[in-house]
Amino acid sequence: MAGLSAGCALAEAGFEVTLLERRPYIGGRASSYQHPGTGEVVDNCQHVLLGCCTNLLNLYDRFGAADKIRWFDSLTFVEPGGRQSVIRPSGLPAPFHTAPSFLAASSLELVDKFAISRAMLALMAGLPEDTTEDFLSWLKRHGQTERAIDRFWKVVLVSALNEELDRTSVRYAAQVFRESFMKSAAAGRMGVPTVPLTDLYSAGTEYITERGGSVRLRASVDYIEIQADRVKVVSGTETFLSDYVVLAVPYHTLGKILPAGEISQPLAQQLNKFESSPITGIHLWFDRQITELEHAVLLDRTIQWMFHKSKLLSKHRENGNNLKAEQGSYVELVVSSSKTLVDTPRQEIIELSLKELAEFFPAVKQAKLVKSAVIKEIFATYSALPQSDLYRPNSVTAWPRIFLAGDWTATGWPATMEGAVRSGYRAAEALTQSLQLPDKFIVPDLAASGFMRLFK
Ligand SMILES: Cc1cc2nc3c(=O)[nH]c(=O)nc-3n(C[C@H](O)[C@H](O)[C@H](O)COP(=O)(O)OP(=O)(O)OC[C@H]3O[C@@H](n4cnc5c(N)ncnc54)[C@H](O)[C@@H]3O)c2cc1C
Repeated sequence: MAGLSAGCALAEAGFEVTLLERRPYIGGRASSYQHPGTGEVVDNCQHVLLGCCTNLLNLYDRFGAADKIRWFDSLTFVEPGGRQSVIRPSGLPAPFHTAPSFLAASSLELVDKFAISRAMLALMAGLPEDTTEDFLSWLKRHGQTERAIDRFWKVVLVSALNEELDRTSVRYAAQVFRESFMKSAAAGRMGVPTVPLTDLYSAGTEYITERGGSVRLRASVDYIEIQADRVKVVSGTETFLSDYVVLAVPYHTLGKILPAGEISQPLAQQLNKFESSPITGIHLWFDRQITELEHAVLLDRTIQWMFHKSKLLSKHRENGNNLKAEQGSYVELVVSSSKTLVDTPRQEIIELSLKELAEFFPAVKQAKLVKSAVIKEIFATYSALPQSDLYRPNSVTAWPRIFLAGDWTATGWPATMEGAVRSGYRAAEALTQSLQLPDKFIVPDLAASGFMRLFK
């Protein structure tokens, strides 16, 4: 997405763009493909966005994909046993817009709600400094109860930042809450793609080609070399001579491509400091529907989110699969920061998921599992550890013709699709600025509403 967004921006600015992608499909870590074991087209993992993802939404607008996102205002939290609490906005001004449903939520006691409100007030004033303190210590220092941590802070942050609270920077944790929960009701809306991810992003390919560029799949870059007035990009037997190069690969791949020599050492040292965290997606096809809900947050168990794909994907909705219970259903469960599942065999993960899912939705006990898939993304996202901003590199490099993009670069955002698009736009802007061209691509953040307008 970083490469695609940089490519789209630069194609619009009049550059002749060649995008080289190693895989046979577009989308990178946000992609879909035909799963060999099931024959089904699956996303490598469910991806959601929020209303505050202004640059991502701008990318969708560019290539006409905005109508492929369905928006939800409310989130349903389900406890084992099936009790549900729904958090939704009310007419109250931000940051109090979700307060009525939050106060009514049965998953938390009054003492937890008071503790959470106090901590939220502390986050309201502005983004805290990025110190060595981790967010779990911060929460304890701000008097949070165990239940508030487990059923609120952890639930939101582990899925948003894909890391444990004791390995999360206070600044990024605060940013997630300020942007998604506090700023405005519009900022916190959740968007879910209604088509497989590669279908969603393939429109970006046309955007580039219609503007005179090209997108080459199965084109893995082996290395690049700096020449007097060009950059040589070598991919297998092919060589591309370019005026400028945006490198938009993951941090753990970049080192192999960079030009050799001492000049790359400081960057190589920064790359060594990154750590990443896994995500596991569990895809289950049942002979019947197991719930009416379209998505849900699952509390207190290994499985964390349920996405009812046969209700969410337009292909299934058009076929009427959301209407008749007997037509079966497709459900995806997501486990973020899934370190405990990395070495767990596939069958054990399926059995655990079915057992846990039945605690939330008893219909699972009667349902027959038709097929299943487990997709483990081991290097899913870089970890937003305390002070990770100290080593996230900028888009400008030691080589004037080479720019960096990727969700792990210094965007001020965690590893998300929005972060990746911001990085692509920033790299494109750094390139146009180096040529003193006026083109700008970064889109401003959503304006705060209500009382949040009083704070930065
Ligand atoms: C399981 C999972 C769930 C996620 N859920 C969400 C979510 O719900 N919401 C959200 O906003 N974000 C989510 N993310 C994060 C999001 O997917 C990433 O932040 C974003 O896609 C990163 O984009 P990128 O372009 O920076 O990196 P990548 O997607 O990794 O892109 C890098 C590209 O470079 C290619 N490449 C690598 N080496 C070479 C080479 N030598 N030559 C040519 N090409 C090469 C790769 O094939 C890849 O396509 C999730 C990520 C994962 C893995």
